[in-house]
Amino acid sequence: MRCIGKGAESAVMFCGIMNLPPPPTKFTKFNNNLLHAARETCEESMAEAVHEAVEENEGGRDISVAVDGSWQKRGFSSKNGVVTVTSVDTGKVIDVEILSKHCICPNKTKHLQNCKRNFVRYSGKMEVTGALSIFRRSESKYNVRYTRYLGDGDSKAYDSIVENNVYGNECAVTKLE
Ligand SMILES: [Zn+2]
Repeated sequence: MRCIGKGAESAVMFCGIMNLPPPPTKFTKFNNNLLHAARETCEESMAEAVHEAVEENEGGRDISVAVDGSWQKRGFSSKNGVVTVTSVDTGKVIDVEILSKHCICPNKTKHLQNCKRNFVRYSGKMEVTGALSIFRRSESKYNVRYTRYLGDGDSKAYDSIVENNVYGNECAVTKLE
């Protein structure tokens, strides 16, 4: 129900109309199961996509990627964003970074351990931060390098990858136009 923007009340009504038993009231257990399954499937699928991208690249582990970031909501009020890196050759997503400014901690100077906030800068920096994390872990995570970068108009994320010399002096990341 959450996926279509409806809450518990709608679920009760829906089950009533469909002549089904009322929906469970304790969602946490199911949410955790769903999260676990979704995460596992996602990781497997992305690892497979890397494999395909390498095959498409005749075994070369320096691959071409498209980078894009987007927010959950339009405008500047959104608290959650995602940066995706997609293989240019296969069109499949190979890594994602979720960035959140969401925080419900009562004390803003001392965040709780389970605080979901992992991004504090202004929204425009989101793509930069996410892309940098994804590039930095490509070798440890998949043993590949994203050496050709395809971005949309805004080149701040690309510039930051170059500035930070992510793959060292021996390996430049070039920009695809
Ligand atoms: Zn917090």
